[in-house]
Parts: sequence; structure tokens; C-alpha cells
Amino acid sequence: MRLSRYFLPILKETPKEAEIVSHRLMLRAGMVRQQSAGIYSWLPLGLRVLRKIERIVEEEQARAGAVQLLMPTIQPADLWRESGRYDAYGKEMLRITDRHERDMLFGPTNEEMITDIFRSSVRSYKDLPLNLYHIQWKFRDEVRPRFGVMRGREFLMKDAYSFDIDKESARHAYNRMFVSYLRTFERMGLQAIPMKADTGPIGGDMSHEFIILASTGESEVFLDKALLDLDTPAADTDFFADLSPIVEAWTTPYAATDEMHDETAFGAIAEDRRVSARGIEVGHIFYFGTKYSDAMNAKVATSEGTEVPVHMGSYGIGVSRLLGALIEAHHDDDGIIWPASVAPFHVGLVNLKAGDALTDGACEDLYAKLEAAGIEVLYDDTDGRAGAKFATMDLIGLPFQVVGGPRGLKDGLFEVKDRATGEKEMLSPEATLNKLVAALT
Ligand code: ATP
Ligand code: MG
Ligand code: MG
Ligand code: MG
Repeated sequence: MRLSRYFLPILKETPKEAEIVSHRLMLRAGMVRQQSAGIYSWLPLGLRVLRKIERIVEEEQARAGAVQLLMPTIQPADLWRESGRYDAYGKEMLRITDRHERDMLFGPTNEEMITDIFRSSVRSYKDLPLNLYHIQWKFRDEVRPRFGVMRGREFLMKDAYSFDIDKESARHAYNRMFVSYLRTFERMGLQAIPMKADTGPIGGDMSHEFIILASTGESEVFLDKALLDLDTPAADTDFFADLSPIVEAWTTPYAATDEMHDETAFGAIAEDRRVSARGIEVGHIFYFGTKYSDAMNAKVATSEGTEVPVHMGSYGIGVSRLLGALIEAHHDDDGIIWPASVAPFHVGLVNLKAGDALTDGACEDLYAKLEAAGIEVLYDDTDGRAGAKFATMDLIGLPFQVVGGPRGLKDGLFEVKDRATGEKEMLSPEATLNKLVAALT
């Protein structure tokens, strides 16, 4: 992509409405624009990151056996009357009336709708287990939308729903999502810690929030340091084998948010392993049994021919919130430092003297070769000042910067900078290409 033809509305001033670093940097880097409280347009650079996050989520959901579909944002109120949540949900639900005076709503979540889809076509244990998910915009009329996309009113969520014949099988479905989440966040360069969460009237141990430690997080959390050193399950993990040893390893050390915190259990951990910190909830998994299938009459036949309500769980990931969480975890004073897996582009190629034949020629040639090698390049071919170009590249945080100027190029050399370490080296075009291909593909 050539910067001269792109849309990258960088802000020079720090927006004063932004209280936390990720919100400031997303606005300054021209990734999002607020259209009204908690409602954002996704500008090209922000949208590219959002899509990268979605791809990783989709790959890991598929690995764990979940099947993607797409439900609408607008739902009929009648489904929610069946479950009893139309009145119970309260003011967070955005209620709409259509021209026929029918009550509709902008979905804050999809348990009712997926249960309706399920009951309309699944009748037998033979069709189970089943896990259906989508990635769709949600609306929750939050009392206090803030921190940019971290607590929006309109936000993008991945929500999966599992269906099983009994609790035993539902536990396996739960474990598949648990392990999938460990991999999903790790692939984005995030250390998300599963923490025991409230299961409400269902009880039991099958609800976890996945939390990123960050000083700006809204949750207060307590954990055993041992969790920070556990290995993430590998890509070749067999999701249909017994996953309970992995889940056990990740749930044995103490970890809880303030709602579930047990001071006595926490106090029993060696003092040097006790961590109390703040965190961001990026995912939440939940087994809720037959809560919706009972209310909405979603039944399946067992192998004995009797009909039982299906056991369900739901599994959310805050896809748009993750952009904020990622930046909170990866930035410095100059801007964002994207992990390569979610970076909007891999490389920023800077032409320091647009219009100069030697510089243009070398930059164009490298640009073409990088793109041909499958590397995503943002090529700054504009005639701006060098200082401003460097500042923009540091701000938007692409993993590598490659700078071509007349001084280096008269010896045939580009300067290659690693954004995370700040390390710079002068390399020939071939060496530059080889280095970037090795690092990024
Ligand atoms: P929170 O405690 O932050 O209000 P929640 O517990 O209400 O979140 P869930 O119903 O568990 O949220 O939804 C699943 C995921 O959706 C959350 O883990 C979070 O990552 C994301 N999410 C929830 N509310 C918002 C929001 N207002 N803006 C952005 N992401 C959100
Ligand atoms: Mg909430
Ligand atoms: Mg929560
Ligand atoms: Mg939650």
C-alpha cells in the first residue's frame, strides 16, 4: 500500500478526552474515530488489525471444532420474552420498535437466537456435540462507555455456543474452548490468564474469565505467579482427546477476580508468588446447563429414545476490546509496537527523498519484491520531512521499518530498524529482503 493513496489521518496533538494510553494511541494513529459515545468508525489502519484478530480467532475456533455462522444484529423481542430476559436485561439493552410496532432489539448477546436455531433443526444425540459461533457487532448501552474501544457501546464480539447431551460431554466442550482461548491469545502476543468467575445459580467450576494484566484494567485480580510461567498448549493438541490435564494445570494455581476472591486461599500461597494487580477481561467462557433449553424447549433424543433438554455453554471474546488490550500491553513513549501476527502491515518502507531517481528506483524495486514475497508493506512515498515520517512510523508501530535515502543508497544500502528493540542495521536490498522474509513469513 502506498501512503500517498492511503487514508491515515494521524493526529499531531494528544486528544484530551482519551484517559488511557491505548485510546490515545488509537486516535493519534488514525485507527478509529468516535461517532457518538462508545460508537466508533473503524478507519483503514484499525480495520486491518481488527481483521487480523478475527482471522486468528477463526483459525483457533476451527481447530477446536467450532463452526462459524452469522446471526443478525437486530433480534425480535419475542425470543427474549421466551427466555424471560426481555425484562430482566434492563437498560443495557437497546430496544427498537419497527414500523409495524413490533418490539425489536439490537443484540447484546445471542443465547436466545442460537437456541432457536438449534431447536428448529437438531433432534438427536447423533448430531452432538455441536458448537456454533459467529463474530458479530453487539450493542450494550453501557452506563459509562470509556477507554475507547475497550468499553464501547457498539463492539465486536466472538460468541460461541456449545450443545451437548449431558454435563459430562458439556465439560469436554468447555475444555475445548478453554484450551482454544489459551492458544488464541498467545498467538496475538498476549498472556491471558484464566480466572475463576461467578457461575450464578448454576454453580460448579465451569466459568472462567480470561484476563490480561494491565494497570489500566477495570478488574481487580489476584493470582499465583506460577501461572505466568505455564506453557501454552501446542498447535497439534488433539482437541478431541481428554483435555482435562491441561485445564487442570491452568486452574490449579490460584487466580480470581475480586468478585470471586478468597483472601484465605490467596494468603496460603507463598508470599513471593502472590500477585495482586489490575486486568482487562478479554474473554469469558461459561457453562449454563439447561437454562435456555428448558425455557425455550430445546430438546434432543438420547440413545434410549427419551427426550432431554440440551446442555449449553457460551464462550465470548471481545474482538474489538482486544485492540485496546494489545496496545496497553505493547507500546512505548513513541507509539504502538504491534506483535507481527496482528500488525496492520508488517513493514513500513520510508522513501526519504521522493522525486530523487536513485532513491525512488531502489525503494520501488524493494517494495515490489517485498509484496511479491507476501510481506504487507506500507510504503511512504510522500515528500514529507524525514522527522515526521519517522515519528509516524514509530507511532503506528509496524514491526519493521526500512529506510531508503540518497546517502545510504549511493552505497546500495537500506537502514532496517526493528520497532520493538530499536536495533538498526544497514543492509543491501537482498539482505533486507532475506531478513524480512525470515522474520515475517
Ligand atoms: P465487562 O465485565 O467488561 O462489562 P462482560 O462480563 O459484561 O464484560 P461478557 O458478557 O462476558 O462481557 O462478554 C464477552 C466479552 O465481550 C467480554 O469478555 C469482553 O471481552 C467483551 N465485552 C463486553 N462488553 C464490552 C464492551 N462494552 N466493549 C467492548 N468489549 C466488551
Ligand atoms: Mg458488562
Ligand atoms: Mg465481566
Ligand atoms: Mg463476562
